Amino acid sequence: MRRRSAVRRKMLCLWLLLIGFALVALALSDLFNRDSDRNRHKPGPPRQPLQRIASPPDLEVIVDSHDPALELGADLTPLKSLQEDQLLFVPSIHGTKSSPQKKRSYKMLLPGASKDTTVRGPPTHGEMGKAVRLHLEGLERDMELRALQQYGFNEVVSERISLHRRLPEARHPECLGEQHIESLPSASVVICFNDEAWSTLLRTVHSVLDTAPKQYLQEVLLVDDLSQQGHLKTGLSEYVSHLDGVRLIRSTKRLGVGGCRTLGATRAVGEVLVFMDSHCECQKGWLEPLLERIAQDRTRVVSPIMDVIDWQSFRYNATQWPIRGVFDWRLDFFWESNPELQDKDPEMAVQPLQSPALGGGVVAIDRHFFQSVGAYDPGMVLWGAEQIELSIRVWSCGGSMEVVPCSRVGHLIRRHLPYRFPDQDLLQRNKIRIAETWMDTYKKIYYRRDTLAHFIRQSENPNITERLRLKRSLGCRNFHWFLTTVYPQLYIPQDKTALSGELYSVGTGRCADYPQGRGLQGGAMDVAPCTGTGSQHCDLNSEGEVRWGPTGTLCLDTEGERAVLSPCASHRLTPGRLQWKFIKLSGQLVHQLSQLCLEAVKEEGDNKRSTGGLFLRQCTHHPRQQWHFEQLVAPKGA
Ligand code: UDP
Ligand code: MN
Repeated sequence: MRRRSAVRRKMLCLWLLLIGFALVALALSDLFNRDSDRNRHKPGPPRQPLQRIASPPDLEVIVDSHDPALELGADLTPLKSLQEDQLLFVPSIHGTKSSPQKKRSYKMLLPGASKDTTVRGPPTHGEMGKAVRLHLEGLERDMELRALQQYGFNEVVSERISLHRRLPEARHPECLGEQHIESLPSASVVICFNDEAWSTLLRTVHSVLDTAPKQYLQEVLLVDDLSQQGHLKTGLSEYVSHLDGVRLIRSTKRLGVGGCRTLGATRAVGEVLVFMDSHCECQKGWLEPLLERIAQDRTRVVSPIMDVIDWQSFRYNATQWPIRGVFDWRLDFFWESNPELQDKDPEMAVQPLQSPALGGGVVAIDRHFFQSVGAYDPGMVLWGAEQIELSIRVWSCGGSMEVVPCSRVGHLIRRHLPYRFPDQDLLQRNKIRIAETWMDTYKKIYYRRDTLAHFIRQSENPNITERLRLKRSLGCRNFHWFLTTVYPQLYIPQDKTALSGELYSVGTGRCADYPQGRGLQGGAMDVAPCTGTGSQHCDLNSEGEVRWGPTGTLCLDTEGERAVLSPCASHRLTPGRLQWKFIKLSGQLVHQLSQLCLEAVKEEGDNKRSTGGLFLRQCTHHPRQQWHFEQLVAPKGA
């Protein structure tokens, strides 16, 4: 009897224990659910599958294109799925994340932040020991570094920022009250992405949905360019299925930026295509001014002012207007600031500005015009220079380009590109297509400044037959017209034999050098090992100027006894200051104003203070004052 009641008591205890467990589990799951409810719109892929909608209407078109134009990426091996994917699913070490509504409940990681500022938000448990906190900080720094490697920006910071964050107003006050014409065309915003981070991709989508008026926004068309990362698969499809007006299509081949946009264009139905990078944030009122300019002239291709989202802190930095897009003789694109334009004409603040080229971040174009002018060059692969090709083509074949200042969109500029190029020369091959299709004899100027492209071109013939046919059938103008009419500000190098190339110093066996990172304002010249790549190319022209760099806007100048580079335009009025004479027999390069000779001094030993550089000295016949211009690309060109 006693034994039986003992057993019963034990059973009772067990039951009570079980019930206790169940209650605790229930309480915990309730807590968890409330948490996930609060964070429904927080960054990060849905952890639990969202409810499926009955029959997803046109939700996901898997594109298995047999269009040869789309097959160009075929030989690019798909990039491996990364282990770091896991990172995106690591729950925040502080437990709950800031919900979108609590905008300022996170702290930003500032560039060069000290240890303290890397802690975002107070620890959830006040008693957390210092050692544990330090350990977690270490873990977090690790996560940031790995995310940086993977994406080229600090995704950990991005993940803590609302997908609906409000941006500081950056528009000119006169833009705010602007009236637009009544009936604007509809727009399809085409967003191509390849292995984009969840937070930046979805912030782009929400930003468009939150800012573009419904009556003009036909759709947001997401085009997955064969992403490998897990969060962009079903998680994304599910998420998108709950968003009104957003479609997702996936390519089964890696198409590259241009190919992916062309694919998006074939599926888009809006009258205007807005190609947008997958890491952008739009200012209020960004879409209407773009649509209006296109409505007035269907051959206009337009871009907003591209503000800059910092890759480290995700701060929004407004770009100074006026600005326009240009490219240099290495066929690299950049935004060029023209503050002097504004001084001349205060009206400029809200007037669109014609632009020789537009960047790829956001560009809007009439859908029919896009198709008829030849979409993107299908021969260009992966990434690079496709926006320059589009720019030259649009201008040469009857269209125009402009930046519209009342429209502003922020673009995340990465610290480095995340793509592992299967072939280092892809960018050069894209540029070669531009040179061969569009630049006529001016292509030589490019090849001299990019010798790698020159050597590739010598052994390969790009297949540009179709593009040349297109150029003929559209009756496009030649590059001379482009240079003189659209971009007359671009200096046209003379590149005379024996007076252009690398400036080689006989005495030191090195070349005159100006490291690229030093910028367009100029600075001291160096001597450095000759690169042979074209990066040290200069051009002594018939005016006696030694023009440097891919834009040719920097001139060899003097500052005391040092040879420096300065903007040619700033000293052209001082006679002789920028003039040099090359004496072929002695190899001397004589500065006309001072009648001193250019001398190369090699840095000695590992002195802390740099003693090397280019100097002006009394003329002698010392080998350090002997120079010759070494042309790496034969005068006949490619
Ligand atoms: N992209 C793509 N396929 C590629 C490379 C890039 O779809 O093979 C997308 C990328 O996700 C981004 C856009 O094209 O949305 C432009 O690329 P990225 O932002 O890397 O160029 P950047 O702005 O740095 O010049
Ligand atoms: Mn980009």
